Amino acid sequence: MAQRLPDWLTIRVPRPDMIQNVEQMMRGKNLHTVCESARCPNLAECFSKKTATFMILGNTCTRSCGFCAIKVGRGETVDVDEPDNVAETTEKLGLKHVVVTSVTRDDLPDEGSGQFFDTITSIHKRLPNVIVEVLTPDFKEKRDCIKTVCDAHPEIYNHNVETVSRLQTIVRPQAKYSRSLRVLEIVKELDPSIYTKSGIMLGLGETQDEVVQTLKDLKASGVDAITIGQYLRPTMKHLPVVEYINPKVFKEYEQIGDEMGFAFVASGPFVRSSYNAIAFSEKVMKERLDRMESEGAGASA
Ligand code: SF4
Repeated sequence: MAQRLPDWLTIRVPRPDMIQNVEQMMRGKNLHTVCESARCPNLAECFSKKTATFMILGNTCTRSCGFCAIKVGRGETVDVDEPDNVAETTEKLGLKHVVVTSVTRDDLPDEGSGQFFDTITSIHKRLPNVIVEVLTPDFKEKRDCIKTVCDAHPEIYNHNVETVSRLQTIVRPQAKYSRSLRVLEIVKELDPSIYTKSGIMLGLGETQDEVVQTLKDLKASGVDAITIGQYLRPTMKHLPVVEYINPKVFKEYEQIGDEMGFAFVASGPFVRSSYNAIAFSEKVMKERLDRMESEGAGASA
């Protein structure tokens, strides 16, 4: 079990005033961000890059992953004003790339997919140029729930496998590796124009071969972008860190991911699912604009 934090993990403390401003705005609209609740070390950097992650459907999860600090229990009443509040706050914060995630709601008939649909639609209606990335639960691999989210046309659909296949039952007991891969495949089957993304945490006891195998499995499932970061223990009640992975090793995985042909790879100790998300969306938008221009040029020729 890893003891002292290595030098490269000196925690970046977000500027209190920045958190305060955002917190006031969020509380005023009964909204939650993962950035705040996870006290994410990247908060200041992401906010300064005009990205943030909203957590919809309350902050009580019906599952209990061993790495996650979110409260576990009965899901909260779904707030019907939440979609418009997220869109309005996105506008107020001047965000260019917004990530919408949620706790898992195994208690809801639609697993919460309807609230994702309404939230994406509200943002797109109010802010057509804002990139919407969703980071969804596995919806128990229900195709109709995944379709509900895809029908709102998020630009990026993210679903994390979180760790390697062998460690799933320890790290996320109510989830399955194969099911998560299947969710990402179904998105591409339903709408190939949606970019898919997934992420894993390292330092939970996985081997390098297992990490490479996970990247191969994600590539085989048609995933476009991946994030690879260091697991940090939120409290003593959560899984211990087995190893602090050296930044050089993260660099190696980045290179392996690039060689495998992923459109985007973010790999580093501080990398999180939505970390530097705008770098991928800027790449996405540029590719899309280039494609539209070439199609436009082709049509006028
Ligand atoms: S399903 Fe998501 S929100 Fe729920 S405990 Fe697991 S990681 Fe946390």
